[in-house]
Amino acid sequence: MKVENQTIKSKKSEFFEKFKKINDFLRSKKKKLKDKKFHLESIKTINSIYKDEKCDLFTHVQIETISKCNGRCSFCPVSAKIDPRNLEYMKEELFFKILSELKQINFKGVLSFFGNNEALLDKRIIDWIEKARDMLPETVFGLYTNGTPLNLKKFLRLTNVLDELVINNYNDAAKLHSNVEEIKKHVDNSNSKYDNVILRYRLENQIMNTRSGNSPTALNIKINATCTYPFHQINILPNGNISLCCNDAYGDKIMGNIKENTLINIWNNVEYKKLRNEIYSSRQNIDFCKSCDEMDNNDDYHYKNSLIEKKKNETKKIDADMSK
Ligand code: SF4
Ligand code: SF4
Repeated sequence: MKVENQTIKSKKSEFFEKFKKINDFLRSKKKKLKDKKFHLESIKTINSIYKDEKCDLFTHVQIETISKCNGRCSFCPVSAKIDPRNLEYMKEELFFKILSELKQINFKGVLSFFGNNEALLDKRIIDWIEKARDMLPETVFGLYTNGTPLNLKKFLRLTNVLDELVINNYNDAAKLHSNVEEIKKHVDNSNSKYDNVILRYRLENQIMNTRSGNSPTALNIKINATCTYPFHQINILPNGNISLCCNDAYGDKIMGNIKENTLINIWNNVEYKKLRNEIYSSRQNIDFCKSCDEMDNNDDYHYKNSLIEKKKNETKKIDADMSK
């Protein structure tokens, strides 16, 4: 298990956070300085997957089976304090329809079983992931959780079927929740390395990305760069709607509905084509994206690809061992 501490703020940033206006100004300047370089790197990625107005198959599918989170992170548009969405569950039939389609197209990308939610609040999810593993043995399975609904039994079941389990432990004093502490003790005393687990110490109160303007701590920053997400990521909400990206927390920009169509047809539909052509030169061409300062999407594309490569090599090794 890899442990990452993301709770340490520098003295400088602590000082400036006390003075909101100066802090906002400095953050905005920093983002703007990164803007051009990020744009050029992202265009390189997009050109490698988008040719003649046609986009390669998505490499990342995100499925949200429940529309709620129990977390109270100050920067998050779906924190339990402010989430305007109704509680909604994905129907079992719909979940397995999606899996059947992924199986049919032999999908070997990344399949995440969470969206803007705490996926483990859905009591069905572990059973479903286990069934999904039988259907899609070569797909990369991932789940991010805030850790609060976990216990050792669930942890063991999940680590058995997931390629990546990320536990984001949100606490401003950098303390683990007692259940996560128990899991960490188990890992520390175990012979298994749990290489597929990342435990992150995270802050509950901090300033993060604007999340397309929906973050309660969002700054008014205008980024001119493109965004790679519409070229490699597809997001499915509990009611089957396909939302624009993982930052479309409330499902405001809908590209189609999986109940009425296939993922492939939606991915290649007129709305997506129009949007990709518009966002290519600048996100300022799309009303929904104008207030979004997200600049991790290109790194995320490359990170997901590294997980896909790793899985390919593991599958090859298993096949080779079996043919001996
Ligand atoms: S950041 Fe994650 S844990 Fe925190 S409120 Fe949002 S979805 Fe929940
Ligand atoms: S610019 Fe922001 S809102 Fe628009 S697609 Fe990218 S991440 Fe999503």
